[in-house]
Amino acid sequence: MCDFMTEDQLAYYTGQIEGHIAELEERLNSQASQAIATDTNEMADEIDRASIEEARRLELNRIEHDKLHLRKLRAALRRINEGDFGYCESCGEQIALKRLQARPESRYCLECQSTKEFNDTHVFRRVA
Ligand SMILES: [Zn+2]
Repeated sequence: MCDFMTEDQLAYYTGQIEGHIAELEERLNSQASQAIATDTNEMADEIDRASIEEARRLELNRIEHDKLHLRKLRAALRRINEGDFGYCESCGEQIALKRLQARPESRYCLECQSTKEFNDTHVFRRVA
């Protein structure tokens, strides 16, 4: 078990993560149907088609990002079950509770995350 967190805290994070997962799944479902809907609009002229294409590309980017986020959240749930939740995967230190509160899917402590993001500049970063 994760030894720096109480059962209550783990239950709290489980609830948070499950809530995020439900939200993302719902959004993904509606995004997918919207992306398909724009596909059937054959009356659009060239300019409209270009902007529809652009909008759809952005939409697909967002869908990809949401899917990635969803995978991270599911992985976090698994870590809770396995007792690894809250520990940095890189240095093994405890991740600050404040950080977990904001992003329960965090896999790295702030320090390791900064190093990683510095080396991994293509990572899409959402403003928390
Ligand atoms: Zn670390």
